[in-house]
Amino acid sequence: MKYTKLGSTGLEVSSLGFGGAPLGSVFGPVSQESAIESVREAIRLGINFFDVSPCYGNAETVLGRALESIPREKFVVSTKCGRYSDGFDFSAQRVLESVDESLERLKLDYIDIIHCHDIEFGSLDQVISETIPALLGLKRQGKVRFIGMSGLPLAIFRYVLDRVEPGTVDVILSYCHYSLNDSSLEGLIPYLKDKGVGIITASPLAMGLFTESGPPQWHPAPEEIKEACAKAATHCKLKGQNISEIALKFSLSNPDIAITLVGMCTTQQVHENIKAMDNLERSSVDCENILDEVKEILAPIKNKTWPCGRPEN
Ligand code: NAD
Repeated sequence: MKYTKLGSTGLEVSSLGFGGAPLGSVFGPVSQESAIESVREAIRLGINFFDVSPCYGNAETVLGRALESIPREKFVVSTKCGRYSDGFDFSAQRVLESVDESLERLKLDYIDIIHCHDIEFGSLDQVISETIPALLGLKRQGKVRFIGMSGLPLAIFRYVLDRVEPGTVDVILSYCHYSLNDSSLEGLIPYLKDKGVGIITASPLAMGLFTESGPPQWHPAPEEIKEACAKAATHCKLKGQNISEIALKFSLSNPDIAITLVGMCTTQQVHENIKAMDNLERSSVDCENILDEVKEILAPIKNKTWPCGRPEN
């Protein structure tokens, strides 16, 4: 396993991070036993970064159970606040309650990283003036170690980081912007590095678009994107290659990105994703050819995304 420093946090994290959304059956039903087993297998094989949220079904509870017997220094947990199954609330009061609830579900004394979750659905000015100051209070109390924020539109990160004191927001979590079909995060990397902000990307498989079984029903991408990705997956299969492995290799190959989070919930996926990472250095010519072919199929939709959050954000 490869480890990197996460921005200025000093945390030493595995480049391949465990995305916990599938643990809460967000991508389809999962048995708790199999989910717990996948987390323990991931730790055994060197993954030390786990990401969940109160809005990923019962993922926090499942992760808490899986980590119960594991020494605390063996893992880094990030969870989120502000987004819940019944909507968004970035008020200081809700966020303070939310962190206590997460600590209880995760069975932890502290959370390593607390993200303001999908801030484009709230008021960015409220996040700056109310949510982040509340989280700074929790940092002083020792309930959280570092503060982050997540969301889809890239402009939200610059908006907040331009308006808070340096060192206030330690990390950002961007998703679906560093995958085979969309690598627009690249443009923001120099700015984030300059600010010392750690970079986490999520959804290298574009939330299921780059899997042989295809995306879940709720996937927000327009048909044009779904069709192009399905075409790429079929092309790979015909050539005896696996689209998920190619997609993961692509996302893991940027050294400026500290962590690539892949959603997992079975030991088989843990093995496949670690194998894709281990094989990175040894990509065969065959694999490079297929990457070019996939890029050509995806060219008409390159960097196309979908609207997300409040129009003003
Ligand atoms: P993903 O692109 O990682 O895809 C996950 C899907 O791929 C799941 O159905 C999973 O079962 C499947 N999968 C995983 N490994 C596979 C393999 N080797 N072969 C075939 N299928 C495989 O999407 P994701 O789960 O949305 O993103 C990763 C994680 O990042 C999430 O679990 C979550 O922790 C985080 N995330 C955060 C935000 C946010 O904060 N706004 C948004 C998206 C994702």
